[in-house]
Amino acid sequence: MDHVVVVGAGLAGVRSVEALRAHGYQGRITLIGEEPHRPYDRPPLSKAVLLGDADSTVVDSDLEALDIRLMLGTAAKGLHDGVLSTTDGELAFDGLVVATGATPIRLRGEGHQHVLRTIDDALALRAALVEGARVAVIGAGWIGAEVATAAARAGCRVTVVEAGDAPVAAALPIGRYMIPWYAEAGVELVLDAPVGSVDPDGLTLMNGGKIEADVVVTGVGVRPNVAWLDGSDVELDNGVLVDEHLRSFVPNVVAVGDCANWYSRRFGRRMRVEHWDTALGAPDTAAATLMGENAVYDPVPYFWSEQFGRMVQYAGHHHGARLVLRGDPETDAKWAACWLTHDHRLAAILTVDRPRDLVQGRRLVEGRQRLDAGRLADPSVTLRDCTV
Ligand code: FAD
Repeated sequence: MDHVVVVGAGLAGVRSVEALRAHGYQGRITLIGEEPHRPYDRPPLSKAVLLGDADSTVVDSDLEALDIRLMLGTAAKGLHDGVLSTTDGELAFDGLVVATGATPIRLRGEGHQHVLRTIDDALALRAALVEGARVAVIGAGWIGAEVATAAARAGCRVTVVEAGDAPVAAALPIGRYMIPWYAEAGVELVLDAPVGSVDPDGLTLMNGGKIEADVVVTGVGVRPNVAWLDGSDVELDNGVLVDEHLRSFVPNVVAVGDCANWYSRRFGRRMRVEHWDTALGAPDTAAATLMGENAVYDPVPYFWSEQFGRMVQYAGHHHGARLVLRGDPETDAKWAACWLTHDHRLAAILTVDRPRDLVQGRRLVEGRQRLDAGRLADPSVTLRDCTV
């Protein structure tokens, strides 16, 4: 290989460049990013940046030392016959890494809606979160909860409007235990309230109700940025379809991060995971694949969220598994939810201010050890000691 192009200068793109060099690739690398900014981390955008504790979250990477061509403010537009077309001309390549991330979904309506994906989004939203402002957040997911946390901290009057019957309902079945967190923080939570439109003076709900607001923030999920690959030979279905080596249907094209839909041997299904840890870890496998090595990407997915003064962490994949609570979420400040497979192995764990449980639980998910459900339910027994 003489020239690898990495499209998308987010975390997954930067880590791909680093991984290629770490795997001994000495040819040319071009890193293309649509945003004008040097690569930066997104998790602090809804935390330290919104709270006013940070203005920049630049990724810690010495790109100059990696001897690459960095094209910022350049977007990939298409891929045909092994040539990448961009807003700054065409590029031939021997290997291509697709790391174009995802873009927030916006709702219908004439009113202005903030979204939160870029540093520019975060700085614009932070400026709007002034004391006394009426802020309507659409979606009680991870981003919505973090925005509500920052807005309440800034002295705004915050309403979170959620289509489901509990926070994070689309992702996890334990959201009802998070409902009290909103009222404690002085945030109004309106459930079962799908939004019809975003208006200049607030929101109109599907049921005809109105919520007046000065600031509307939409946090209802993202779509992978892969439309630029339409019409190419790279197969798309909820992201770029790749195998367990992160290789697409075009052999010298790999995909990583939020835009990759890969096959997990561990879980026996396809996964597209929008977590920082995936953007960090997948590039090593993708680089190895481009270098002709036989690497497999099969992690236990992990993420965290900081909301209403709590650290929430999750590892694994809970679908189809049985819920066992560790502690009582209604009375205990610190608790965990564990999911056991039919043969008593830990499929997933969510912890609230129990970081040690998370670390041990993640290892247990990885190790597939069998656990005793009775001991697991007792928060005074360390997770390590629940194995049978
Ligand atoms: P991105 O970071 O989206 O980077 C992709 C880059 O590609 C972007 O810069 C984009 O502009 C560029 N691009 C797109 N299309 C093109 C094109 N056609 N040509 C060139 N460039 C293009 N995860 C957690 O685990 N915990 C958290 O607490 C957490 N908090 C988050 C908070 C916020 C506000 C956000 C937005 C995300 C958060 N995440 C969190 C998710 C995590 O940040 C993402 O999973 C991670 O950023 C994905 O990295 P990526 O490189 O795949 O994509």
